[in-house]
Amino acid sequence: MASVLLGVEGLRVVEADAEPDGSLTVWVVTDHPGAAACPDCGTCSVRVHEHVLARPRDVRRGADEVSVAWLKRRWKCGNAGCARKTFTESLPAVPARCRLTGRLRGLAGAEVAERGCTVAEAARWQRVSWPVAHQEFARQADPVLERPPSPVAHLGIDEHRRGRPRWRADEDSGEYVLLADRWHTCFFDLSGDQGLLGQVEGRTADDAAYWLAQTAPAWRDHIQVVAIDMCSIYASAVRRMLPGARIVVDLFHVVQLAVKMTGDVRRRAVREKYGRRGRSGDPEYGVKGLLVRNLEHLRPAQFAKIMDTLGADWHGQEIAAAWIAKEKLRDVLNLRARVTGSTPGERDVHDRLFRFYDWCAQHDDIPELVTLARTVSRWEQEIVCAVLTGVTNARSESLNRIAKLEARKAYAFRNPANQRRRVRIACTRGTRRRQNMPARRSRLVTGRQPDPG
Ligand SMILES: [Zn+2]
Repeated sequence: MASVLLGVEGLRVVEADAEPDGSLTVWVVTDHPGAAACPDCGTCSVRVHEHVLARPRDVRRGADEVSVAWLKRRWKCGNAGCARKTFTESLPAVPARCRLTGRLRGLAGAEVAERGCTVAEAARWQRVSWPVAHQEFARQADPVLERPPSPVAHLGIDEHRRGRPRWRADEDSGEYVLLADRWHTCFFDLSGDQGLLGQVEGRTADDAAYWLAQTAPAWRDHIQVVAIDMCSIYASAVRRMLPGARIVVDLFHVVQLAVKMTGDVRRRAVREKYGRRGRSGDPEYGVKGLLVRNLEHLRPAQFAKIMDTLGADWHGQEIAAAWIAKEKLRDVLNLRARVTGSTPGERDVHDRLFRFYDWCAQHDDIPELVTLARTVSRWEQEIVCAVLTGVTNARSESLNRIAKLEARKAYAFRNPANQRRRVRIACTRGTRRRQNMPARRSRLVTGRQPDPG
């Protein structure tokens, strides 16, 4: 019974002592038919040379430590022609010369791969060295990560910074020169749940194209939509490597751009009006928080406050024009099925987009508005496609957050390959967990219900 509780195949418990400090000493002997076989010639020995005591480290019992005392036999090899004279017993669970049981190593690796501990933390708790925990983690992680990805219909591309940019002061001019600014470009599965598909160092079009070129042509042909941030670099890489895929830009970034434009106009108008930056007490300052909200989320009183404040003078009207432009752009994006609950028509999208352009043209004395309209028109095709397909880069951003969190937990990585391995295993953990769980009825999220009013 005690041997079953210990659970190491080939070890039989003969005695167990509870120590005063709460730890447990378990005395075991070998109980395995293969243990007496010579590792060189395979002959089973019958002559014992001596007894030795080994203390392989094993997993904890709860929070308490267990010390295993293994009375091993050293056998004499029965084969006269064998070069090896004597050998000690070894088991698959505790290989020869190993001071750790296999399950302790496995647990240290699994804590990193499946529980999200850092290597240092897992090593500390399991009382193994950092290299042992890392080696075991890599052994478990690599086969999982090397599997070729399943076909993906919607691909997401995003980037995150690796570490901090490094600067150096130039001796002649005194100006700062950028020494290193390291980035990772990441590829995400937006339609399935494979999470992070791969990463590549750098963030140029060539870097992104390099990763795409390494995938199988059939896999590339399967991609229908690629979601990117408003970044022309990735767009050119996608056009080069995935000519059949449609590009969509993430609509969050479009709205973000419009909100930023409203703020820019407000700051400039306030500076022109007062000759200084805005401060609490200015009427424009009082509505700055309301201007970044969605129109449909404003209470009537709040809406009236904006109109009263901005209608007072010419500077306010300029801010109001920018704010209305933001809402007209949002009107375009709000046609997507996630908001309305029905498939948008391409003509409606173009109609609303025309109204936005028209508004910007009527207020072409506001330079920020013209810039926004130019940017939107440059990305028009991708924005329309995003509204029609409803594909967003939201999942990429959420996985990017995990990637950044992983780097923070590790207090930054020195080795980019280790970073990529740790980040990818972290960004696919949810997928693996779901695969191992019994099938559950999935709940389809169709988004916000259409407003009955
Ligand atoms: Zn032998």
